[in-house]
Amino acid sequence: MPILRQIAQLGQPILRWVAESVGDPLDPAVQRLIDDLLVTVAEADGVGIAAPQVFESFSLFIVASRPNPRYPQAPRIEPLAIINPEILWRSDETEKGWEGCLSIPGLRGLVPRHRKVGLRYLTRKGEVREEEYEGFLARVFQHEFDHVRGIVFVDRLDSMHDLVTEREYWRIQDGKD
Ligand SMILES: [Zn+2]
Repeated sequence: MPILRQIAQLGQPILRWVAESVGDPLDPAVQRLIDDLLVTVAEADGVGIAAPQVFESFSLFIVASRPNPRYPQAPRIEPLAIINPEILWRSDETEKGWEGCLSIPGLRGLVPRHRKVGLRYLTRKGEVREEEYEGFLARVFQHEFDHVRGIVFVDRLDSMHDLVTEREYWRIQDGKD
């Protein structure tokens, strides 16, 4: 049975470490970690979660984008386990978009990201995949990729003026409709 994991909050040193590569994706311990991450991200209304966020310093993350209370506009995809990711290329074009982080509750930031990225990674079956993503999904990948390198979204802000509380974030969103 997968178990809900405790989520490391900003200030925990593990969030700042460069994570280790996964040796064998088929290792039962890795498979269990993936299952735990899947239930943990779903329970927390995340759209992604990286292994270091549950105190496991491995180069592994989940992208599980779907509309939820924290991200009502998120596109729906099948949850994906991404192991030992590499970013092969990044578009020159960047765009700013809102991000939050399960490890940084209560805050949202307007974060510049590359609009498109090309990735290579291993699936949970150990298969090599190369894919490209754009827009919101490219943003989620870049956010989670940062986590396995010890980087969090607040490090990426152009200005601290782009950081707001969750309450003000929703006020801004409501004002848009
Ligand atoms: Zn995060």
